[in-house]
Amino acid sequence: MSRPAKIQIDLTAIQANYQLAKTLAPDSNVLAVVKADAYGHGASTVANALESHVDMFTVSCLEEAMQLREIGIQKKILLLEGFFSQQELETGVQQNCEFVLHTSQQIDDFLAANMSQPVSVWLKIDTGMHRLGIPLGEAHAMCQRLLESNKVSQLVLLSHFSCADDPNNDYSRGQLTRFKNCVASIPPEFKSKLMTSMANSAGILAWPESRMDWNRPGIMLYGLSPFQQTHPEADKLIPAMTFSSEIIALRDIQAGSSVGYGNTWTAQRPSKIATVAVGYGDGYPRNAKSGTPVLVNGQRMPLVGRVSMDLISIDVTDLAEVKLGDLVILWGKDLNANEVAGWADTIGYELVTRMPNRVRPTYIM
Ligand SMILES: *Cc1c(COP(=O)(O)O)cnc(C)c1O
Repeated sequence: MSRPAKIQIDLTAIQANYQLAKTLAPDSNVLAVVKADAYGHGASTVANALESHVDMFTVSCLEEAMQLREIGIQKKILLLEGFFSQQELETGVQQNCEFVLHTSQQIDDFLAANMSQPVSVWLKIDTGMHRLGIPLGEAHAMCQRLLESNKVSQLVLLSHFSCADDPNNDYSRGQLTRFKNCVASIPPEFKSKLMTSMANSAGILAWPESRMDWNRPGIMLYGLSPFQQTHPEADKLIPAMTFSSEIIALRDIQAGSSVGYGNTWTAQRPSKIATVAVGYGDGYPRNAKSGTPVLVNGQRMPLVGRVSMDLISIDVTDLAEVKLGDLVILWGKDLNANEVAGWADTIGYELVTRMPNRVRPTYIM
């Protein structure tokens, strides 16, 4: 028998979530973000399911782009971190990729390269995240250098929100204003070659002013909200990943008995404990606290004690009927990964993205 810990990916949900991104911003082009193996959902399969819908894909690096080319993906692919050598630049251009330029060195190297024809490039502007991008004060000069060269057919200015997970955060408004001012400062003769891109999932869902020529949805494609609180648009997303396993042992314990490594949880009453074949070796977060909900036969029941490598324990005392082999959902459509993440001091992004190879996904359409 194979290990019961499984993930199932609903490709129809991903298509529907993509459609929501499109509906919210019908005038924008969409760059589907499939970096980090499509946030753990399997970049090849996800890209195949989305290829006929999207305008372009985006990944972090050339290696991730090549994985998509190898399975026959033909749409353009944007590399968010640009190129790291002349060789990467050449290969990328040959492979119909576009690059985000985010340092003056990359701009110098790009301008020094031999190009058989002008290409479209993306220039990242640092509007306040201070992670990647050209400082605002230099943006104008860099745009001018790029646009005056004969190497650029189109320049897309982009920037990234640092606090968009809170739809009421004023810092995002400031970033947006700085970005718009930067775009406005580009001389009019270059405007025909200029495009703009600001919105990630949070921008698409909650910041209409951030929806520009190109939007960059990532997490929302996979059906998870980028927000900590509920939000009317985000609540329409359909989680694509279902993580499940089965009960492989059941026991009755007395009040005062402890469960799991370190005896971190002690029964306050006579309790029925279900042991489930899933643990941190399968991608379930080790720091999920006692009380983290799981669904046993569709009912919410609390995790108790520490998460082990291969096993977790659930208090099923309040469940009327339970037996070996019963299905346990760790997260999915009826138990949001973001909620589980909250119990483990992290975010849904991390939970789905770091799933190990031990659990092989199956796909439904
Ligand atoms: C990852 C990433 C995105 C997607 O962000 P989500 O919050 O997942 O929508 C967009 N833009 C850039 C630059 C990114 O690195």
